[in-house]
Amino acid sequence: MGEAYQIVAFVDLEDAAMLHTAKRVIRWMHDERIRGDALAPEESPEARLRPWFEAVGYDEARIQLELAKARNRFKQRIAFAPGERATEAMTASPESPSHPHASTGIELVMGWNIHGDARWGYAGHCPTCHRQVSNLHLRGGPLMLAAAKLESDPRSPLVCVDCGAESPLRSWSFDPTLLVSPLALRFANWRPLRTSFLEALATVVGGRVRTTSEVL
Ligand SMILES: [Zn+2]
Repeated sequence: MGEAYQIVAFVDLEDAAMLHTAKRVIRWMHDERIRGDALAPEESPEARLRPWFEAVGYDEARIQLELAKARNRFKQRIAFAPGERATEAMTASPESPSHPHASTGIELVMGWNIHGDARWGYAGHCPTCHRQVSNLHLRGGPLMLAAAKLESDPRSPLVCVDCGAESPLRSWSFDPTLLVSPLALRFANWRPLRTSFLEALATVVGGRVRTTSEVL
């Protein structure tokens, strides 16, 4: 608990370019020494995730199902140690947000996901009627259901309770920020990323990068 992630999502990316772009990002971060070696994948997320599933009240069968899904998801992630020039990607803020033993790696997340913090309630901005739909959650209700379908359907829709229009989750905007993308980077316990670093990443991928955060 208490791991703070800055998430950089490549929001303009389409499926066809995902793998190619992932390779390019990995190579660039290596050349710039932002990242170090790849770390062994997390084989058993049980210890970390089980308390969360228990806290939301899942029974044992559901917990096993969610853990199996999590193990699958982790196969789509590659973790790296920070590189020797990692601090050049961060602002020189004097106080570090993390405790001394916090991990400081980088995760590359492949596959369609919604990125953000599952603790909050969200207001969604409907792309059709431009009104706000409040009280959306990643842990239940229509937003959770739409998010759960993203992996198999990148155009997974969210229905607006105001105008009734179904629009792809990706076309909604959310407050606080939630981002839908087929590729993202997660920086664990890094100081705030520099704008120049984010701009360089945007050039590498040839599209916009947007940021959000999550605390686990
Ligand atoms: Zn609407």
